[in-house]
Amino acid sequence: MKYISTRGQAPELDFDDVVLTGLARDGGLYVPKVWPEFSPEEIRSWKDLTYAELAAKVMAPFVEGCLSEQDLSALTRDTYASFDHADVAPLVKLADGEYMLELFHGPTLAFKDYALQFLGRLFDHILKKRGQSITIAGATSGDTGSAAIEACRDRDAIEIFILHPEGKVSEVQRRQMTTVMSDNVHNIALKGTFDDCQNTIKALFDDEAFRDKVDLSAVNSINWARILGQIVYYFWAALKVGDGTQKVSFAVPTGNFGNVFAGFAARQMGLAVEQLVIGSNSNDILIRFLESGRMETRGVVHTISPSMDIEISSNFERLLFELSGRDGKKVSAIMQGFKESGNYAVDANFMDNLKSIFEGARFDDDATRDLIRTTYEQNKILLDPHSAIGLGAARACNNKAAPMVVLATAHAAKFPDAVKEASGQHPDLPAHLSDLLERPERSETLANDLAGVKAYLESTLTARGKL
Ligand SMILES: *Cc1c(COP(=O)(O)O)cnc(C)c1O
Repeated sequence: MKYISTRGQAPELDFDDVVLTGLARDGGLYVPKVWPEFSPEEIRSWKDLTYAELAAKVMAPFVEGCLSEQDLSALTRDTYASFDHADVAPLVKLADGEYMLELFHGPTLAFKDYALQFLGRLFDHILKKRGQSITIAGATSGDTGSAAIEACRDRDAIEIFILHPEGKVSEVQRRQMTTVMSDNVHNIALKGTFDDCQNTIKALFDDEAFRDKVDLSAVNSINWARILGQIVYYFWAALKVGDGTQKVSFAVPTGNFGNVFAGFAARQMGLAVEQLVIGSNSNDILIRFLESGRMETRGVVHTISPSMDIEISSNFERLLFELSGRDGKKVSAIMQGFKESGNYAVDANFMDNLKSIFEGARFDDDATRDLIRTTYEQNKILLDPHSAIGLGAARACNNKAAPMVVLATAHAAKFPDAVKEASGQHPDLPAHLSDLLERPERSETLANDLAGVKAYLESTLTARGKL
């Protein structure tokens, strides 16, 4: 399997190199050169597999030539053994035709663990094979950071730097990052927004000399392996709702568009996906795009669902590529214009394709709290604010042509204040995190200034003997 860039100018790479490279050298994102497809018979035959076994089946064509079947199976088995539910991603019925897929049973209680626990082990496997080491730099709006840190901590061949926007992630989210005392883990609180953090990371990658000097790698959802790790649970859900071949719709609370793009990928691979519903908070750029065909930034507002306080959904570029006939030149021109002017428009044909699959709805903080409260009253289930938005969007957009699966992306205990305010109930942290609020923290506060961040990375790597 070869991978190509959405902007058409970077070299074709195999899986190992795509994992280590992250962002393509032409500024694009890697996607498979051809989508592997599974027949309904094959999908149906997976009905009784465990989650780890299914993961190995779904991932196999993507890692061909790089990981043996045995190595892949061993990796997925080891990855999902650490999750705290026997089903790994349990499916819960809410009402007739309405289900919730719980994606918060990994070590840091958000769906990001499903891909990142795999990616950490994958990095280790590839780096050991090659005798190399890397520097990982990532931006987080809350949950990626802790999931990445938990996946990479104490791995000799990795130094990991995570930027979070100072004061704009929840206390639990922050502490899940800053209380990890491993020597290879470096937290940076940036004085800026999540988009500032993400732009800083992009700029580090754009600087080829720096990138090569520190062997820079990405764990953000621009890394193809992140998408890969998320495709699995769409198949899993379809195999739990039916036999894997009947149509299923999904509703996904969306920020960087990585999670819902994995649903689109599953559809490309032969899964019978009816609708993909996007849930947004007040940062509703994608919903406005669905309405107008125009992507237009307006600035980020802070909400009670901070992991979706994002304007520029990096992974939307992958969809742009797929729905514009895989035309790298066209995508490149659009993204260049977007960078310069903060907006772009697509044609009617693109919008027709988009709307034949995607729908979306927005919920502000009051509406989100209402959803948390009414779900607690009706189902005795405490939803975190992101999952609540997923449920709200599912109900607002459901065309009723297929069962609807809402992706519950985080445990309510990651956002205790918002959940308590909405429902009157305090969600407790699981036992392994019960003393989180007493643990000491370590992080470096830096100005939103690229040169300063670069200097900090270099001095830290030097002190660690990695430069
Ligand atoms: C990251 C995150 C999201 C957004 O996912 P994207 O892949 O960025 O669209 C939604 N909910 C939670 C809890 C998250 O951590």
